[in-house]
Amino acid sequence: MINDTIAAIATAIGEGGIGIIRISGEDSFDILKKVFRSVEKQEEVEKESFFLGRKLRYGHVVDSEEEIIDEVLAVYMKAPKTYTAEDVVEIYCHGSVVALRKILRRVLTCGARLAERGEFTKRAFLNGRLDLSQAEAVMDLISARSDKAYGSAMSQLQGELSEGVDIIRKFILDVLVEMTVNIDYPDEDIEELTYRSLIKSLLNIKEQLEKLRKGADTGKLIREGLGVTIIGRPNVGKSSLMNRLLGESRVIVTDIAGTTRDTIEESANIRGIEVRLTDTAGIRRTEDTIEKIGIEKSLESINTADLIIYVVNAGEALTEEDEKIIEEIQYKKVIILLNKSDLDKKVSKEYMAEKLPGAKIILTSMKTGEGISQIGDEVENMVYGGAVAQGNSVTVTNTRHIALIENALLSINEAIETTELKEALDIIEIDVRNAYDLLGEITGETTSDDIINEVFARFCLGK
Ligand code: GDP
Repeated sequence: MINDTIAAIATAIGEGGIGIIRISGEDSFDILKKVFRSVEKQEEVEKESFFLGRKLRYGHVVDSEEEIIDEVLAVYMKAPKTYTAEDVVEIYCHGSVVALRKILRRVLTCGARLAERGEFTKRAFLNGRLDLSQAEAVMDLISARSDKAYGSAMSQLQGELSEGVDIIRKFILDVLVEMTVNIDYPDEDIEELTYRSLIKSLLNIKEQLEKLRKGADTGKLIREGLGVTIIGRPNVGKSSLMNRLLGESRVIVTDIAGTTRDTIEESANIRGIEVRLTDTAGIRRTEDTIEKIGIEKSLESINTADLIIYVVNAGEALTEEDEKIIEEIQYKKVIILLNKSDLDKKVSKEYMAEKLPGAKIILTSMKTGEGISQIGDEVENMVYGGAVAQGNSVTVTNTRHIALIENALLSINEAIETTELKEALDIIEIDVRNAYDLLGEITGETTSDDIINEVFARFCLGK
């Protein structure tokens, strides 16, 4: 049972037009009456009806001596149609850290307790207004750094993931019921039939879980951004490419080979997708130790990248260094840019296609801007073409959810195996039930208190 009243500053700390103090719980209205003085009709403040209909009331927050702390607007929202499903009061004051802290302190002395991180949202969850995955979406929404991350958090908040998970759980439940009936009333004649129908149902569940798992691949790209490593010999135009993609000149461009000594990392937004760009020193045989560090780092970033952009100077024949790069990136997802295509070409698309089959090749010029938009097309294609081609699949961005889906998939695979071996039904049932419970942890139905606490501890204060 939750019966105390909590309060916190809900807006970011700093200077702003408006700051908000939020209060939730049974005593919210009593506290409001104690701290708020109406400019309109003070005698009405005592009555709930004065605030009903979520009317914003204009007045002041005063301290215990009736001294004005700030000029405010206040609203009282009666349970259950509120964020927490409890009585909620919000006080809109000036966006001053001092005003916010003073009002909060006053509210706390009038009977509220300082809210823990994420406690408002936790109450919304405990009061059944949101399920756990929706509550987590609130946090993702707040911290989203790209349109796509925001969009996927919003659809999760709308319950899209929960719906997908519930559908699969319903299928698993049907299987569990079918099994229980057969465990309780074993009949040798129908045993064979049971195994056959069981396999069919389990394979169907597996297929649906795999779809959800695919949504997680896209989700990872959306959450973490696409890791792109830009590689190529010195002076081919890597820094110029970075600048083009970032839309401003933050990387120094020079004509001296080897100026990009270390790797440089920047975050760009391409078509609403967060792209983490790493510009490498290029792979060169060198005795220069500083440059060597850069080279080691660039090899490392090749291994961890989701996508490699290999820049070639189309105006010069390939060199030994290029051969070395090609060797390193053979098994990676690669886009080759035949850059400086405004100059006389010495390297053709066909030649590169032979060198690196499977790579996408684009003619570019960092000077004229040719081919830049095609790079955007390819990035978009990578994120949406591969993983989400199945159409209606849900994107899964939360690592906790992904782990649960993967483990549920393992359990179902285990169940399929034991069913094929015609093991006793109660053995198979263990794995099937496990998958059911694991999926329930996504929406919070079967989640332990520890995990729930851990989830909300990652929230910011006042949410
Ligand atoms: P990096 O060493 O690979 O990072 O190469 P930079 O981006 O520093 O470019 C090296 C030189 O090539 C600079 O003088 C650029 O202005 C020039 N450059 C880069 N891209 C192009 C291009 O597409 N066409 C032409 N003509 N010059 C380019």
